[in-house]
Amino acid sequence: MTSDGMTPEHFCHCGKPASFGYRVRLLNDIPGEWYCREHRPNPAPVLTVEELKLETPEKFKRKCELCGNDIDLRESDLHQWMSGWVKIRRNESGGVHNIALPMTEDRWVHGYCIRREYKGYAKQFDMFGSK
Ligand SMILES: [Zn+2]
Ligand SMILES: [Zn+2]
Repeated sequence: MTSDGMTPEHFCHCGKPASFGYRVRLLNDIPGEWYCREHRPNPAPVLTVEELKLETPEKFKRKCELCGNDIDLRESDLHQWMSGWVKIRRNESGGVHNIALPMTEDRWVHGYCIRREYKGYAKQFDMFGSK
């Protein structure tokens, strides 16, 4: 990662450095499509490389609620708090299915923190729940 912005990270199909990104979703790890100024399709791109770089440091930074360390939202092994109404099915497998109207909150933890923190609970659940 360079901070001076001189090293192009994306290239257009013509081989030139591409600074116009389309359908780029950093949160979901979607690299998107990149074009140089000449070949960029219309309409205008959502974010240019420069804008993405400007946004990265603070916009994607959170604190893990379990370990207290920094979280970069572009990491893949993350859990976000979600709540909502869950449809309960009776007379079937008994499992919990789709969450209707999920409400996400801006609360984040590392995947490994979840696994470490809730290992004990998972064991208990196994003891009393499924066999
Ligand atoms: Zn091009
Ligand atoms: Zn953590």
